[in-house]
Amino acid sequence: MQRVLARAVLIAMGLYGLSVCIVRADNKTVPKGPDEDGTKAALTKIAGEGMMNAHAFKYLTELSDDIGSRVTGSPAERKAEEWGAAKMKAMGLENVHTEKYQIWRGWTRGTADAELLTPVKHKLHVDAMGWTGSTPAGGAEGDIVEVNLFDLDNEIKNVSRLNGKIALVTMKGKPNKAGVLYFAQFGDFLKAAGPAGAIAVIGGQGGGKSDGMNLSHTGILGFNTDFAVPVVSMTAEDQGQIERFLDRGITPRARFNVQNTFTNGPMETANVVGEIRGRENPEQILVVGAHLDSWDLAEGTTDNGSGTATVLSAADSIMRSKERPRRTIRFVLFTGEEQGLDGSFAYMTQHQSEMANHLGDLVLDSGQGAVKGFQLGGRDDLIPEFKAFTAALSTIKPLTVDDKVESGTDTLPFSIAGLPGINMLQDTTDYKYTHHSAADALEAQKADVLTQNSMLMALAAYWIADRPERFAAPWPAERTAKMLRAQHIYEELKAFNLWPYGDLGAEESKSAPTQN
Ligand SMILES: [Zn+2]
Repeated sequence: MQRVLARAVLIAMGLYGLSVCIVRADNKTVPKGPDEDGTKAALTKIAGEGMMNAHAFKYLTELSDDIGSRVTGSPAERKAEEWGAAKMKAMGLENVHTEKYQIWRGWTRGTADAELLTPVKHKLHVDAMGWTGSTPAGGAEGDIVEVNLFDLDNEIKNVSRLNGKIALVTMKGKPNKAGVLYFAQFGDFLKAAGPAGAIAVIGGQGGGKSDGMNLSHTGILGFNTDFAVPVVSMTAEDQGQIERFLDRGITPRARFNVQNTFTNGPMETANVVGEIRGRENPEQILVVGAHLDSWDLAEGTTDNGSGTATVLSAADSIMRSKERPRRTIRFVLFTGEEQGLDGSFAYMTQHQSEMANHLGDLVLDSGQGAVKGFQLGGRDDLIPEFKAFTAALSTIKPLTVDDKVESGTDTLPFSIAGLPGINMLQDTTDYKYTHHSAADALEAQKADVLTQNSMLMALAAYWIADRPERFAAPWPAERTAKMLRAQHIYEELKAFNLWPYGDLGAEESKSAPTQN
């Protein structure tokens, strides 16, 4: 679903993409893919290594079973950093190191017990959301009252009614804004509900209900945000029963005992970095990444052990092929993704001085499903070239190419910087159940799918880094701001105080029509 406006803006702003636009308009040159640009022979070797000598599933098994869940800043996450660096060294990557940074606060899950007391008595299945607080020691008892996510303005105004109550988030009526804006406002609600005396809040990420059979889904409730009030995700079955009672006018009563711990101050963590240095322009860099951190209800296999294994195996395939690209491929295992893309934002800060030399980043973070295409993170100017690349993979599978910005993972900081934050689009049929849940274990990943995903990442990375012409350079701020507004990323960034461009790019997007 591309937006027409993005392309209209490109044509109107021809100055920035001058050579590309003019060439395209005159139809003088057709974009070159691997068959024409000299990269085919190397890609063929890499594909062979990637399919015949793949280590992706072995990496994923080690990370899942031997390290397991790895919340940012936890001992297990540190162990995962060491493991990632050791793998990079063993396969022969250059310049392997960790890049330390701090997140605002650490958090450790304790226990979460809940029991429905009336009108029937039974255990409720709940898990605490990340970076949320605790009930009094020993728990507390109260009536369950409904809070309508679609009427949060009023719910915040009337928050004092939640004193001594357990709030159940429901969705009644019709939404009048994008889901991500409710996500932001849900944080405002939680900030008010704690001091108002609410015992606990039942509601998953953004207040949503849990997907799957008898599954809860943990997660953060903002960017770098913590909440004193305990917030839990409840299984759909338990939550559904409580909702049905409320709909019949019955006020259920429950007991909640949720215990978590925060650190007093910031917590140190680190991204793990290793490179294949370019043979002609080593100063020019493509970042290939995935996040190493996970949630803690299971092994963190699909979110995002799968991405980590994909990146490591892609690096290994290129190393085994003995091919060296023209430019540098920098493999980065980010931490802090689950707390608000902290690792990739830290990367941008730490590498500010070489950002003009970056070509973009390439990320896989939608779990276990097969890759279906590539989203070029706002850069519609790169679509023709990239389509010439995917056309050369048509014997493997059809792959879509669009310019959509993926804001939910480590692609976003690159898109904000005007670089292609390239997201590998995946089939998420199963991921919606495994992600952040107790089902996120090795059982969820099929080895053959992982192997092919990793091979596709290796090919895309090598082609971008090795093609004779430089793939991309950062767009100027104004063009980037316009693109982010056209793709409706502005509203989201603004809501979370992440919008860096002030009024830049505001004029045209107001009047221009958009089409989904
Ligand atoms: Zn993830």
